[in-house]
Amino acid sequence: MFHRLLASCLPLIPTPVMRRLCARYISGETLTDALDRLEALRDDGYPGVIDLLGEDAADGATADAASAEYLAAVEGISERSLDVYVSIKPTHFGLALDAKACLARFQRVAERCEDLDLRLRVEMEDARYTDATLLLYETLRSTHPSCGIVLQARLHRTPADIAALSDGEHDVRLVKGVYLEPPEVAHTEPAAISDAYIANAEQLLARHARVSFATHDDALVKRLKQVIANAGEETHHELQVLDGVRPSYWPTWRSADHTVRVYVPYGPNWRAYSTRRMRKNPQLFKAVIRSILFGE
Ligand code: FAD
Repeated sequence: MFHRLLASCLPLIPTPVMRRLCARYISGETLTDALDRLEALRDDGYPGVIDLLGEDAADGATADAASAEYLAAVEGISERSLDVYVSIKPTHFGLALDAKACLARFQRVAERCEDLDLRLRVEMEDARYTDATLLLYETLRSTHPSCGIVLQARLHRTPADIAALSDGEHDVRLVKGVYLEPPEVAHTEPAAISDAYIANAEQLLARHARVSFATHDDALVKRLKQVIANAGEETHHELQVLDGVRPSYWPTWRSADHTVRVYVPYGPNWRAYSTRRMRKNPQLFKAVIRSILFGE
């Protein structure tokens, strides 16, 4: 309740103060800011993921502008020879407006990624879009096999979604899920979400998926080490983290034989986007406040 109340006051905070509070999470407003940050991370031994902040494109022109920016990002990554994935939210490319036009925008970016030997990831948004996102992903993957998907352990449906993935190797980022969903569709307790995450991880490794475990939960990372050991030598896996979140853990996780890949968001919409996310998910707001106050 307290965090919900505080989160509703976020729009009152002046932008320069918000900018300072968010500096560790958001690389900046421009593509150059993001590429500079990804280069610095590369120099410290961390490959990256680039994300243009935005969702729910209001019209086709906005979705086209987002896809043009991603195409510029792909060129920038290649020019700087960075090991960086491109990560895109379907509603940012207009999934809620016109699924066909959204697919065409993904295809254009996927084609260029393929030309330049880069990977693209279709992100997962709230449960209203799960079916449409999986369909988009499978269609895209049929012509661009290096595209990957995000699956959310929180959702009850995820084991069935893993079982229904088409034949062949899939590239999956496994997350707990940032969107709070009702108990009819999702686990709501942290322990149940972690147990579901482990079960999903086992299922994905058993079907030889390339898996990115995206989490900052050290207890979960410790359990995953056992899951990976049980799966044997032939697994393709890495850890992924959000820039600025628990950086003191990254060297330990990396030295334990995992690649740690850092997700770098940027864009002019950083303020509206971050405020909306934190208001929708007070747990996220609490995590941010804790890390600012206690430097976690
Ligand atoms: P938690 O138990 O939530 O957190 C573990 C610890 O990390 C806690 O101490 C917590 O305070 C701290 N922490 C976690 N997040 C933050 C934060 N933002 N700021 C400060 N401290 C924090 N979700 C989706 O639904 N769809 C996606 O496409 C998606 N992509 C993602 C990509 C990456 C690379 C990552 C790392 C996460 C992504 N997520 C996505 C978010 C994910 O679903 C979780 O909401 C988020 O990672 C927090 O869960 P956790 O596993 O870190 O565990």
